[in-house]
This record gives sequence, C-alpha cells and structure tokens, in this order.
Amino acid sequence: MPETFDPDISRLSAKKRPAVLFAFLFLASFCMVLAGIVGWDAWRARQERLAETTTATSNMSRALAAQAQTAISVVDTVLAGVVERIEHDGLDGARRARMSLHLRNMVGEVNELHGLFVYDAAGNWLVTSLGREVDGNNADREYFQHHLKHDDRKVYVGQPVRSRSSGIWILPVSRRLAHPDGSFAGVALATIRIDYFGKLYESFNIGKAGTIVLMRDNGTLLYRRPYDDALVGSDVTRGPIYQMYRRHGKAGTAMMRSYIDKVERLFSYRHLEDYPLIVATAQSKQEILADWWQSTLTRALLTAAVILMLCGFGSRLIRQIIIRDRLQVELTNARSALQQHNRELTVLADNDGLTGIANRRCFEQALQVERGRAARSGTPLSLVMLDVDFFKKYNDAYGHVAGDECLRQVAAAIRDSLGRPTDLAARYGGEEFGVLLPNTSAHGARQVAERIRSAVLAAGIAHAGNPPGLVTISAGVHTARFGPGQETDPTVLVGHADALLYQAKRNGRNQVCTDEDDAARRVPTAINS
Ligand code: GH3
Ligand code: MG
Ligand code: MG
Repeated sequence: MPETFDPDISRLSAKKRPAVLFAFLFLASFCMVLAGIVGWDAWRARQERLAETTTATSNMSRALAAQAQTAISVVDTVLAGVVERIEHDGLDGARRARMSLHLRNMVGEVNELHGLFVYDAAGNWLVTSLGREVDGNNADREYFQHHLKHDDRKVYVGQPVRSRSSGIWILPVSRRLAHPDGSFAGVALATIRIDYFGKLYESFNIGKAGTIVLMRDNGTLLYRRPYDDALVGSDVTRGPIYQMYRRHGKAGTAMMRSYIDKVERLFSYRHLEDYPLIVATAQSKQEILADWWQSTLTRALLTAAVILMLCGFGSRLIRQIIIRDRLQVELTNARSALQQHNRELTVLADNDGLTGIANRRCFEQALQVERGRAARSGTPLSLVMLDVDFFKKYNDAYGHVAGDECLRQVAAAIRDSLGRPTDLAARYGGEEFGVLLPNTSAHGARQVAERIRSAVLAAGIAHAGNPPGLVTISAGVHTARFGPGQETDPTVLVGHADALLYQAKRNGRNQVCTDEDDAARRVPTAINS
C-alpha cells in the first residue's frame, strides 16, 4: 500500500519551505496574470465591437434620414406646383379636367407618390389622381383640420391614415390652398404609401432581431420593422427612441431596451432636416456580441485548460518537492541514527564494560598498528603489562562486587597516569592490564610504570591480604626497537612483557620489572655459569 500523501507544507524543512512557497506564488500569479490578460483582451474586444456597431448604426440612420428627406421633398415639390397652379389658374371648366390629368401623370411618374388630392374649403373632393371623380369629404382628417386652423403656407406632414380610396396606410403631406385675400380655400394633399419606406427598410441586413423605425416627432409610429399593421399610428412616446429624442435632440445613439418586445438594442436615431420625422435603426445587443461571445468562450475555455494544466503540473512539482524533502529528512535522520548506533557499537566493541577503558581486542589492534608505525619510523615501542597483587585474596576477603569496584579504581589510576594522547591503557583480562606507549624509550616506560604503581598505591584501597595492607600492582615493561624489514609477532611483545611481570611477582610484587632488570639478573647468571 502506498503511503498517503500529506500536503501539509508546514511540515516541510525550513530549507525547502521558501522554494515551495515561491513555486506556489509564482504559479498562482502566473495564472492570475494570464486570466487577467485574457479577461482584459476580451473586454477590449467587446468595447471595440460595440464601437464599430455604434458607427455602423449611426451611419445607417443618417443614410435613411437622408432618403426619407429626399422622398418627402420630391413629393412636396410636386405638391407645391399643384398649389401654385390651382391658386393661379383656378379649377373652373376644362382646367379641372387638365388638373386631374396632371395629377394622374404626376402619380404615374413620381415613385414616392401614392396619390394627389385637392379639397375645397368644406373638405369636399374637387379633383384627384384617381382618374374618376368620386364624391367624398375629408374635412374630418387631422391634416385638413390643421390647415383650417393654421393659415401658414408651410408643408404639413400629418398623422398616418388609412386611405379612403385604397384602404392602405399612407403618410399625408399637405399644403393649404388660399383665396387671393388669404382666406382658406381648401387643401392640396399628396400621399405616400407607408410601405414605400417599408420596402427599403426590409432590404437592410440588420440581423434577425434588428429593427428600423420611422415615426413622427410627436411619437406616432409610421413604420416599424418587423412590420405589424396594428402598430402603425400607435403612440410610442414611452419608447426608447422618443425618450432619447426628447433628451438628446436631433440625433443620438444608445443601448436601450425596446418597450415593444423588451429586447435590448443599440439604437441610433436621427431627425429629418426639414420634416417632423425621425428615423431610427437598432441592432440587438445579443446579435452584436454573438461572435464576440463565441470567441470569448473559446478563449476562456482554452485559458481554463492551460491554467488547469499548469495547476496540475505545479501541484505535481510541489508534491515532488515535499516528497523528496521528506525522504531527505528521513534519510538524514536514518543516517545520523546509524552513525550514532555505529559509534555505540564501536564503543562497545573497543571498550571494556567494567572499567570503561579499552578492551583486549582494541589493545591488540592498537599494538598491531603501533608496531608497524614504530618499524617505519624507527622509534621505540614500549609495552607495560600490569597485574593486581593477590587479587584472589581481595575477592575472597571483600567479595566480587568490591573486587569489581577495585578494578575500576585501578583502571582509573592507570588511565590518569598516562601523559600522551597516543598512550593507550586497556584491560587485558581479569585483573591484568596492558599499557601501550608508542615512541617511548625503556627509561620513559619504566617511569610511566612506576607512576602507575605509585598511583595505585596512593589510591589507598585497603587490602588486608597484601603485605603493604593496600592494593598494589606488579608490572613488566618491555621496550622494542625494530630494524627495517624485521617481522615481529605482536604477541611475542606481550609475552616478553608478561614474563617480566611475573618476574616482578617473583621478586616480591608491588614493583616494576624491565628488560634492563632482566638483563642485569641474567648477566651475573651468565658469568656464574
Ligand atoms: P598474584 O598476586 O599472583 O597475581 O595473585 P592473584 O590472586 O592476583 O592471582 P590469580 O591470577 O591467581 O587470581 C586472579 C583472581 O582475580 C581470580 C579471580 O578471582 C579474580 N578476578 C579475575 N577477574 C576478575 C573480575 O573481573 N572481577 C573480580 N572481582 N575478580 C576477578
Ligand atoms: Mg592474574
Ligand atoms: Mg594477580
């Protein structure tokens, strides 16, 4: 089973924490900057798109206004001619028939015209472009009432009406007829089919939800794309175009919600130069921004994918750092535990458990090493073997526990008597000790051995079974010098020192016996023999 991963970075080593924190912060800020750039770019693209459309709709409303202006002014020119002729020539006799023909010709020639009509002061039809003289009265019409009440000679664009002659929606353009004295003589009327504008408006590409509106500047709707017959003539003063016109005057552009279909659109309107009409075009915000939405969504998805990938990669990286760091820490801990263990083992392997000084194994190894060094350097190597005197009796008299304590004190006395760091004291076995003195002459070794003997005596450990009454030691000191290439088994050296030790025992104990003593003892023997 793999160990479950603990992402707690507070458990990280202090060395690795900044690296992980840096990696995290770098990644987080990179992702944030990336998202910021993409977001800002998208916002900028949106503003650009809206600005482009604002220009386009504004240009379109300008063009449509110009077209409507031209259409009405053409119609008005014809109308002004009719008024001039009637007022100058009258409509008596043959003139009426000629006028009727003229009107018919005009309607046939001028595209914008739907019909031309002349009414007398009571609203009765005098002459029309219909070609047949029909009885009728139009005194009730809004444009007729207007001219009846206003004696100005200006052209009047009236409220849309359903034609009495054809039944379709028309826009009345009229002028007042006056007698030579200026009194009201009737009305000359030119009509334009509302769908004359409609045909043009339907031909523009303004999207499915786009709209084009023609209205009077008093808020009466003349035409709205998509066309709805029921809306013609309705009051749209509450609508966005009229409200904008009231607030901003002749022309303007703004994002507003239609009050008819509740769609939010970018509206651009324009008032005609000389006539009381307003033309407006609008494109739905949703359609304007459709492409933008699509590209923004694609970019957002791509960016999200990149960010996700980076997060995945980053968390893997951080995870790897954490895992590695933990392994490193565990490894370091394991290594130091092992080193500690090794040190303990070395201590156990090299030291004597009772006295704390080196053991026999360590002593023999050191002897081997020092023997080689002495041979290479040509320096003397001294070896002291020591043994506690009558220790069996000590044990018998004071017991083993006291015996052990005595051995510890003897070991301490030996150790404290050594001067050089290269000197080595060891428990060789039982109550026997060995001391290795590298680069020490016979004379120096004897001094050390004597110092040890004195120190043990000075420790003042009572020992009734020993003639001095205190614990003493005997010592044998052997000093060796090695010639080049000379092979000497280290145990031979120990044997020599041991022999001298037993010599010291035989000589009465509590003394040191050296090679010199041995030689002195032997020479007379040799002479004697
Ligand atoms: P000598 O003066 O001839 O050396 O007499 P000795 O009694 O010391 O000689 P021997 O070697 O016969 O006796 C050694 C005694 O030391 C035997 C044993 O009882 C005692 N001994 C050896 N090792 C230890 C030890 O680790 N602890 C204790 N308490 N006694 C030990
Ligand atoms: Mg002994
Ligand atoms: Mg002994």
